[in-house]
Amino acid sequence: MKVILAGYNIDTGLIKKLKRLSSNNVFTPETISAAYARISRSPRSVSTLRKEALKEVEKARLSNRRIIFEMSHHSIAEHAVFNFDIIGISRRAVEEVERFRLCSYTEKSQRYVTLEGDYVIPEEIKNSKFVDEYCTIISEQNNLYKILLEKLKSYRLKNQPGVSDPKILKNIENAAKEDARYILSLATQTQLGTTINARNLELMIRRFASHELDEIRKLGNHLYRQVKHIAPSIILFYRANDYDQRTYPELKEYCDKIKVLNDLNSEVRLEDYTRDGDDKILASLLFRVGRSSFEQCLTAVKKLSRKEKIELFKNACKYLELYDTLPREFEMVNYTFSAVVSGSCFAQLKRHRMMTLINQDYDPLLGITIPPSIKEIKMEEEFKKVIKKTEKLYKKIVKISPPAASYILTNAHRKRVLINLNLRELYHIVRLREDPTAQWDIQNIVHSMSEKAKKVTPLTTLLLCSKTEYPERYHELYKKYPKVTKVPLPG
Ligand SMILES: Cc1cc2nc3c(=O)[nH]c(=O)nc-3n(C[C@H](O)[C@H](O)[C@H](O)COP(=O)(O)OP(=O)(O)OC[C@H]3O[C@@H](n4cnc5c(N)ncnc54)[C@H](O)[C@@H]3O)c2cc1C
Repeated sequence: MKVILAGYNIDTGLIKKLKRLSSNNVFTPETISAAYARISRSPRSVSTLRKEALKEVEKARLSNRRIIFEMSHHSIAEHAVFNFDIIGISRRAVEEVERFRLCSYTEKSQRYVTLEGDYVIPEEIKNSKFVDEYCTIISEQNNLYKILLEKLKSYRLKNQPGVSDPKILKNIENAAKEDARYILSLATQTQLGTTINARNLELMIRRFASHELDEIRKLGNHLYRQVKHIAPSIILFYRANDYDQRTYPELKEYCDKIKVLNDLNSEVRLEDYTRDGDDKILASLLFRVGRSSFEQCLTAVKKLSRKEKIELFKNACKYLELYDTLPREFEMVNYTFSAVVSGSCFAQLKRHRMMTLINQDYDPLLGITIPPSIKEIKMEEEFKKVIKKTEKLYKKIVKISPPAASYILTNAHRKRVLINLNLRELYHIVRLREDPTAQWDIQNIVHSMSEKAKKVTPLTTLLLCSKTEYPERYHELYKKYPKVTKVPLPG
């Protein structure tokens, strides 16, 4: 066996330095894509193919184009990876960026960073008669943010007099930021780091080219300009097209003719789920380790007593540690939930990439989420006053540009979502988001999802709980605590 490190992503600062020192001026990940694309048909070793591609970059580029265009072997573009710093975009725009699930993101947190009030004025509003009012309302929101932040901090300090431990003081400050930010608009600027392979990047650039928001089209343009000379042979289908531009607007026009009743219910609902889910997961476990058909496994599981089924589940999960994902067989059961979530909650929910998340636009008719702490400090009325002004302006902007109107809405505003996920991913989300360290809003939503899943699949959810609760839950089931592998800290 031979394993060779073929490449890795390094900082552009270093690449520039290397370029200065090198006679070769073409630094591109395309050669790796080209070499790997040739593996399937060439008897030569991968390393040789890589060396050849590196020697003849133009030939490698030609080969990539041919393979992608003529053979639709598009996956070769996944071998080229890029990192982008994206700075000064709105939270509204981040919602569009993070729709792409096969990429990696790390974003400035409104829970941990005090915001300085920077915001985006979208072109659609900049060129309208509402621009002054837009800036005034955002200043009011930002001023209230600062007031809420101070009041929440002093309120929490008053409830914990004499605290001097810097860690507790930091927690108090973070909790204040977490709730004060509900009044901040979706125009608030943020920054993120993202890692994307060329195939996803091409899709992102293409979708953005057709996007209804100017900010997103510009972002797509920036992304394309950064890579078009570095990887021209693998970013090919990047232009706006009818499919992306017209499908949803025309679908909306068509659907407007179909009568659908309005429903302002904001409860988390389990809309659909795999029937006999417990049995199907247990049967899949039998299937995985046996030689029988799935039908025979299911028949066998149905004959087991409840106690025997629990034993089977316990056998599958007995070595499960906190960082382990459940066995793949837990993907055989799906749940569809609907919910109404705040902007803040959505910001966190959308980060879970192993589920299907479909969202509607923000809708002020769905009401707002006001953090309980804001009621406790008796600032609810002030909060609502600013919301009222916000919504008044929203209604005006909607008339000239419906998509851009959402910029003025706040983290407290809500949208309706449809979530489809399997039990394996639900375990992961519950572990992270039902935990006391998670933010309260998403904690509540995920708690409801978890309770509903437990009702319809009571056996295979016996260990469905937050990471803090896990040792106790494991103990209840196995009468001993789970193994906890210690990770050695550096130094
Ligand atoms: C308390 C808390 C604080 C947070 N603070 C911040 C913050 O300040 N900034 C910030 O940006 N995010 C923050 N996050 C979000 C966090 O970093 C994750 O993005 C989010 O929780 C989604 O979880 P996930 O990535 O584990 O898995 P999911 O996207 O739900 O995917 C499930 C699993 O699939 C696998 N997986 C999915 N995609 C990939 C991939 N591309 N490569 C490898 N494996 C993959 C992983 O095993 C992953 O655990 C925070 C989360 C929590 C719970």
